[in-house]
Formats: sequence, C-alpha cells, structure tokens
Amino acid sequence: MERPIDVYTDSYSQSVEFYIPAPHRKLVINISGGADSAILLWMLIKYCEKHIPDAEIHVITCANVVKGWYNAKWATTVLDKVLELTGTELIKSHYTYFTDDQRRQELNETEKLITKIHGTTVAILGTTQNPSVDVEHLREGRFEARDEGHGRPPYRNLSPEVLRWQPWMNIDKRFIAYLYNHFEMMDKLFPFTRSCEQESRHNKDTPSWMTTHCGECWWCKERQWAFGKY
Ligand SMILES: [Zn+2]
Repeated sequence: MERPIDVYTDSYSQSVEFYIPAPHRKLVINISGGADSAILLWMLIKYCEKHIPDAEIHVITCANVVKGWYNAKWATTVLDKVLELTGTELIKSHYTYFTDDQRRQELNETEKLITKIHGTTVAILGTTQNPSVDVEHLREGRFEARDEGHGRPPYRNLSPEVLRWQPWMNIDKRFIAYLYNHFEMMDKLFPFTRSCEQESRHNKDTPSWMTTHCGECWWCKERQWAFGKY
C-alpha cells in the first residue's frame, strides 16, 4: 500500500514532500548533533510511528578530531532528547565512528556497513541548501556544493536496492526554523542541538569543552540568520 506524502511549506514558499516510499521500512539516518538532522530524526520517527509501525531506524554519527569529537556528544544528546520526546522503540542502533577528519567517503562506507549488517534500504541525510548568494554575509566561506541548482533530487538510487533521501536538499535553513516552530520544538529540541563547526584548537569553553556556539564560524552565522539565535 502506498504511504501518504506530508507536504510542508514555509512563508518563503519553500516546500518539502515528506514520505518514505513503500515497501521500504529499514532506514539509516546520519545525525550530527546539529539542528537540521535533529528535527529530521524527530519527524522521521513521527512519520514511521503513524505509517510504518514495523520500521527499523538505525542512526550513525561521524566524530572527528578536528572538531574535538563534539558530534559524538551532541548527537547522543539529541538522540536522548528525541527518545524522551517520542517514547519510540523504532530506534534499533546508534553507531558513532571516530576519524581524523570529516570525509564524505567514510560516511558512505559506514552507510554501506549498516546496510550489510541490518539490511537498511533507505539512507537519509539532513543536508540543507545554502542561503541564496544574495545573503552577502554568508557568501564567503560557504560550502559551494550546497548552492542552489546543485541538481540533486531529494530521492535517488544509491544502488538498485538502496535509496538516498535528502529531504532538505532544496530548502535553506529558514525552513528548518519554520519546522521547529511548526512542531513546537523550539524550546523542547532546538536547545539540545549545536551547529557550530569551530575547530577544537580554538575552543575555550570551560569547564566542559565544545559546548557553546563560537558565533564566528560560517555555520554559527547561518544558524543566527535562520533562527535569530544560536
Ligand atoms: Zn561556530
């Protein structure tokens, strides 16, 4: 049986069709501890609880030395909070891999490993699109592969059996702020996320390391632009 498509639209006319096509039910999602993947995980659980009660959700996180492994800590915090908020039993595993840098190739390899171990057939990423280049202060330092017109559809095949789903690929971070407001998660979940990508060698947080937003890196500026706060 086909499953419903939930359509969300923000006040900037950005729109997302949210659904997992049948018969897929074993899913792997990458979470970083950031705001984009956190709300995606929460929405994914809500969708599955309603429409795919026999779903299995596997979670992966990349933690690297350059960023002081903060993703390991923050992704765990996000997952903890999402488990508390939803009470779900659909989460079956959380794998964190530690590496010396942040490489897309390693993420791909880890997804393949989860597919091999758990039979997952949808690999989910919460990557958003860059703000328009008209936003002058966010032009410099952006990751250009995320620019508008990158040509990546939300759904595509990674292999004949495995789908890649990037639901946020064609919307910018203002849409993520809209979702937090729409689902009343701004106080419940947003404060448990961290988007800062400051390198650990510059971090001065005490007593606990890598806990605040630096306010200076590109990712902090994007978060401030979209949410009006860190
Ligand atoms: Zn920062």
